[in-house]
Amino acid sequence: MDVCPLPYGRKLWDGTDGFLDLWARTDVQTCTYWGAPIIWEGMFDPSVFDQLHKEKSTRVALTVFAVGRYLDAYLLPFLMSAEQYFMVGLPVTYYVFTDYPEKIPSLKLGQGRTLEVIQVARENRWQDVSMMRMKTITDAIDGHIHHQCEYVFCFDVDQIFTGRFGSEALGDSVALLHSFYYHRPKMFYTYDHNPKSEAYMDKGDFYYHAAVFGGRWQKVRNLTEACYQGIMKDKENEVEALWHDESHLNKYLFLHKPTKVLSPEYCWSMFIGHRNDIRVHRLLWAQKQYNALRN
Ligand code: UDP
Ligand code: MN
Repeated sequence: MDVCPLPYGRKLWDGTDGFLDLWARTDVQTCTYWGAPIIWEGMFDPSVFDQLHKEKSTRVALTVFAVGRYLDAYLLPFLMSAEQYFMVGLPVTYYVFTDYPEKIPSLKLGQGRTLEVIQVARENRWQDVSMMRMKTITDAIDGHIHHQCEYVFCFDVDQIFTGRFGSEALGDSVALLHSFYYHRPKMFYTYDHNPKSEAYMDKGDFYYHAAVFGGRWQKVRNLTEACYQGIMKDKENEVEALWHDESHLNKYLFLHKPTKVLSPEYCWSMFIGHRNDIRVHRLLWAQKQYNALRN
């Protein structure tokens, strides 16, 4: 099923397993116009979701890239915090993509949790490292993930888990509201506005953040494949979308609506400061030293 049925009452079936209470939060938007829930703290009972997914033996893949200087700078805290907070209680396989497999730190993982290291070529430009993830994830789903997991979540490495990021986030096609834009008028959304790019869009629903996306592997594969095709077409036409893979992701998710949307609690930036609607921090952006990382 692609989108959730529109709610008739207080509770909305989340499209997979659990129920979400749409009226538990009246200070924020909890449902999209196409009927997908937007998940905020207070809308769900974590133990109900966990129990249901344990009964179904749900397995989750997490993909993360640590190429070049990003490996030393971010990977270990990312993985250690994922052990503490990401899908705790469910079997998780981390797929770590790097140009330097020997440097992957050894880590004692929890029960049922494993880590696979996959070597990738190092692209010359950081923009290409970021964009080529779409191709690599597609290949990894075809090669390994589809045998091993029902769901896959794809993360940037420059972040750290600080609170539960649990089974309530699982869904057919899951996207994240960008913390900089969720409360802003649409005119501020930084979509690609160049008609020559495949990522061009002149209207949209939300501004999604490419630092986190996921869903059933079939749906994620559709997204990564389409974004990759868009990126390659742009290269043929000698254009590049404004925010690279994120621009293509936004275009795809406008055309193929996600079935579940995560609030910015699922990827918050401390630079924004305090906001009353952000009740928990589940994942935080790490400090970024762009000069040291990218030059
Ligand atoms: N990345 C990497 N090495 C690079 C550039 C990017 O490993 O040289 C990966 C890494 O996982 C990173 C993601 O691609 O988190 C996206 O890049 P970045 O976080 O720099 O983009 P931003 O969040 O600033 O848009
Ligand atoms: Mn990032």
